Amino acid sequence: MKKSILTFAATAMIFAACNNDPKPESTETAAPATEEAAPEAAATPAGETVEVAISGGDDMKFDKTEITVKEGSNVKLTLTHSGKAPAVAMGHNFVLLNQGVDLAAFAAAAIDAKDNDYIPKGKEGEVIAHTKTIGGGETAVVEFTAPAKGTYEFLCSFPGHSAMMKGHFIVE
Ligand code: ZN
Repeated sequence: MKKSILTFAATAMIFAACNNDPKPESTETAAPATEEAAPEAAATPAGETVEVAISGGDDMKFDKTEITVKEGSNVKLTLTHSGKAPAVAMGHNFVLLNQGVDLAAFAAAAIDAKDNDYIPKGKEGEVIAHTKTIGGGETAVVEFTAPAKGTYEFLCSFPGHSAMMKGHFIVE
């Protein structure tokens, strides 16, 4: 028994040696070549990340009504609910609408979209980005690419909130 195991082990070692043998030289020479091929200067500055913070409290207001970012930047937006009320009573979300979308009509349709984070079914295409709906003490993050230059509107689409909770999202 013992003898056959040893024989097997020896065979395996020979196999391993054979497999490894031809490789090392070629990988050594390949490495420096790849380093030279990747220059330090980045050609495309696209996708710079910009962090945006916005909060809303139990007073049903956003702390800012204007947000400005650069075209093409990667926007990381954090919504904070600074109040104490639960999401069912005083929910907040951040919804960025496409240009040309009627904010009032969108908000009216959102009333029936509780199960979809107050994003009306069938109107998802009118939204550039949105967070989930949160309650007091919670935060929500959404990341998206800033759209083309222009002025866009944002709102909280929780029923009744958009009259107070809305603003302009400006892309320069
Ligand atoms: Zn709200």
